[in-house]
Amino acid sequence: MGEASAVPISSTTQSPEALAAALAPTLGADRLRLREPLAPCTTFRIGGPADVLYEATSADELAAAVTAARALGAPWFVLGLGANILVGDRGVRGLVIRNRAEAFTLHDDGRLVAESGAVVEALVLASVRAGWSGLEHYIGIPSTVGGALWQNLHFLSPAPERERTMFIAEVVEGADVLREEGDRRVLRVDEMGFGYDESIFHHRRDVVLSATFRLTRGDPGALHRVLQENLSWRGARHPWLAIHPSAGSIFKKIDGVGAGRLVDQCGLKGFRIGDAQVSHLHANILVNLGAATAADVRALIAHAQRAVAERFGHHLEPEIGFIGDF
Ligand SMILES: Cc1cc2nc3c(=O)[nH]c(=O)nc-3n(C[C@H](O)[C@H](O)[C@H](O)COP(=O)(O)OP(=O)(O)OC[C@H]3O[C@@H](n4cnc5c(N)ncnc54)[C@H](O)[C@@H]3O)c2cc1C
Repeated sequence: MGEASAVPISSTTQSPEALAAALAPTLGADRLRLREPLAPCTTFRIGGPADVLYEATSADELAAAVTAARALGAPWFVLGLGANILVGDRGVRGLVIRNRAEAFTLHDDGRLVAESGAVVEALVLASVRAGWSGLEHYIGIPSTVGGALWQNLHFLSPAPERERTMFIAEVVEGADVLREEGDRRVLRVDEMGFGYDESIFHHRRDVVLSATFRLTRGDPGALHRVLQENLSWRGARHPWLAIHPSAGSIFKKIDGVGAGRLVDQCGLKGFRIGDAQVSHLHANILVNLGAATAADVRALIAHAQRAVAERFGHHLEPEIGFIGDF
């Protein structure tokens, strides 16, 4: 959060009103919401308020909001679907930019150009219906395009083999990026440092404005079959998000062992602190039973880490982002 500037504003002393007043000339006073609860903007349904929330509805608005916050030296954060983060109970200081830049175009040659707030499910459905293959593997995973590039979205290859992990980077051609230096540049896929749960965006305060995917012709029947099999595979293994909010896998993969398996072998499935619980279905997923706080989730994470370290000597590292004040 936050970055250096010639005229820094202290994130702890700047009131939401003062920040909104400073942003209003560029972003519009009527578009800025003060002390807006963030829990409804996350899949965990947890988290305190943003000092100031702005919804960007186009890539240009997203760029303008980041640029405006940078110019003021105010902290800022770009929020997608909030599917890979835990927001602290005391909320987020500065400007939270909720990315609703959702426009996309599917071209006749299989190039799909999408603004970074486009929801991956919408892209999957549009491409499958038009007989284009490449994105169908990611059905059922809550993500914007920006979040997908940030973490290099992944899922298993089609049934019955499921012999390898597929990565969204495999179908990315490039992305229009507002770099931390302030310029806007199109990066090629090989310039984005993709790896497992890894991209250049973990290390730089660049913002993805839009991305181009390169799809290939596919048989619509076979593509629909992948959608159905993947959804049913997930449904059998993961808690249902609408009923049991979560942020997906909590801990990073441990090669050859499986973080969830270690938590399970400590007997923690169903273990609960407050309203945060280790899922009965998948021990690497923590669910919100209704009124969980970020403090509950953090305590449960620490409990699982301790148990696994004592029993197996492995250190479990969280894969989700911890955003704001806890
Ligand atoms: C039920 C469930 C199942 C899941 N299953 C999977 C799975 O199978 N595979 C998988 O890979 N993941 C999975 N996840 C994790 C999650 O879906 C992904 O991490 C997803 O990419 C998050 O996207 P988001 O838009 O919600 O990003 P957010 O959670 O909103 O943000 C995550 C990070 O990305 C950054 N970011 C967002 N947009 C931009 C942008 N435009 N430019 C730069 N940075 C940006 C944010 O600042 C933040 O640091 C699952 C999550 C849930 C809740």
